Amino acid sequence: MIVGIDLGTTNSLIGFWDSGEVKLIPNALGEFLTPSVISFDRDSETILIGKPALFRAVTDTESTIANFKRFMGSSKIFQLGNYALRAEELSSLVLKQLKEDAENYLGTSIEEAVISVPAYFSDAQRKATKNAGKLAGLKVERLINEPTAAGIAYGIQERFEETNYLIFDLGGGTFDVSILNMFSGIIEVRASGGDNALGGIDFTEILAGMFFEYHLASKKIKEKEITASFKQKVFEAAEICKLRLGITSEPKMIVNWKSNSYEFTFTIKDFEKKAEPLLQRIIEPVKKVLTDANLSPSTIDQVVLVGGASRMPIVKNLVGRMLRKFPLSHIEPDKVIAHGAAIQAGLKSCDKALDDIVVTDVSPYSLGVAAYTQNQSRSDGTIYFDPIIERNTIVPTSRSRQYHPIDLNQRIVEIKIYQGESFYVEKNILLGVLKVEIPNGLKDRSFEIRFTYDINGLLEVETTFLEVNFTSRLIIEGNPGTLSEIEIHERFQQLKALKLHPREQAENKLLLNRAEHLFEDLQGEKRVTLGNWMKIFLAALDTQDLAHIARTKKDFESILNTLNAEICPI
Ligand code: ADP
Ligand code: MG
Repeated sequence: MIVGIDLGTTNSLIGFWDSGEVKLIPNALGEFLTPSVISFDRDSETILIGKPALFRAVTDTESTIANFKRFMGSSKIFQLGNYALRAEELSSLVLKQLKEDAENYLGTSIEEAVISVPAYFSDAQRKATKNAGKLAGLKVERLINEPTAAGIAYGIQERFEETNYLIFDLGGGTFDVSILNMFSGIIEVRASGGDNALGGIDFTEILAGMFFEYHLASKKIKEKEITASFKQKVFEAAEICKLRLGITSEPKMIVNWKSNSYEFTFTIKDFEKKAEPLLQRIIEPVKKVLTDANLSPSTIDQVVLVGGASRMPIVKNLVGRMLRKFPLSHIEPDKVIAHGAAIQAGLKSCDKALDDIVVTDVSPYSLGVAAYTQNQSRSDGTIYFDPIIERNTIVPTSRSRQYHPIDLNQRIVEIKIYQGESFYVEKNILLGVLKVEIPNGLKDRSFEIRFTYDINGLLEVETTFLEVNFTSRLIIEGNPGTLSEIEIHERFQQLKALKLHPREQAENKLLLNRAEHLFEDLQGEKRVTLGNWMKIFLAALDTQDLAHIARTKKDFESILNTLNAEICPI
């Protein structure tokens, strides 16, 4: 039996695919959501997982751990009683619990799982997630990107037309927004962004803050009475109140503390005003992914709400206003990812109906080199970061740019390779340096730098002096020491086709040839139309973005066929 698991920052879920539909599995408490919280009970020397651990967050903060997904793939150590554990080990405890709950519920053993991960997870974070599965006794051959899982849950694979989805995921403490593109059976995460310190918890804090502000002003509570445990009590009341915001028009909080009862009523308007800064932090990343994916709100076909906090009316309304579309939320937002993961699990266990989905990925950062501003000599030039692969480019990818040495009598070029987004190289992360000797006697000293980035975070940097076709190569591993030289070599052999500039690829050349001939035969408006399309196609080839090229090519080809049919109607 293969299951699908949403291993969330706040909550985790498990489900499976059964006779054509998703079934989510309840835990021992009969609930679908298991809090991703671990606690150590010193008295009984046992580890508690889920809701029982969450309750201890108040009484026993010291030995309770939450939010560890943030540290997945890092070497951070959490102290849990006498144990020192890393995030992947803590995650494995959650997975073990889910597995056990499912086995009890189904009465069969579970060996394999598809687990969802954020689209921006790096190779190391993905490996750590797989490892967590292994530690829990689960085979994890396949991870699924969370936005892709959401898309699948909403039947993205059943679409025949090219479709753009915006997946809006506001969880407990993280905000992820992604754009998915579905095109001829391929689902791609085109862009992803967000704010990893924004989520439902911030809205709860606002309510708790409003409560104290009100009672401090009316002098019913004094500053010095606000202890950590009083705060926690108010926070819990605020959380309950928040969950009801969608169903009540007169929200109210009642907190009983040390034989006093504190009441607080407010209007939705009051709350909205206070939450305004949070809403602003939602708007920015949405704009950014749209720009990164080169899309406008009107070219988004569907908007999907994911994450418990997207249930809040102010958030839902904001999304609708921003994207001018009624967002989909008929699958409960905090269960969408688990639905998608369960469908993918069904796909894995060979349900043919969902077979041809390919999930591709994006590079989370820009990758580039240090370069001098043009037309200046070394003495007065400014060094800046020149991206070769921009962030959110679909991987695997291969892109190149041309450069030339700054000084006439320079013998060596030193290529410094960086990852990051800043204009200033020193604010980015240095990945490696490639020193290349300039061949003797060149007329044209310009050279090409090509970056080839594969799905596992391996970056190959190649410089070629174009005149003599002299190439030097450097390989940078995202996760050093995990691949042998031979494996790396094989990997890049497979990527060879990518390295050809798309303009040099036979099919594209052929199409351009056809267009060139037709251009000579046409006149007037049709000639202008064709000319414009040739420009569009050439520009697309220059982006070296294979998905974009495929789309443009399809349109270009059909225009060519139409125009051709008009002058030669047989
Ligand atoms: P994660 O993806 O971080 O694991 P979830 O998607 O489960 O998290 O979302 C958890 C957050 O959703 C919590 O902050 C919780 O308060 C919030 N939430 C859940 N249901 C509602 C609701 N009906 N209204 C408002 N917030 C909600
Ligand atoms: Mg989530």
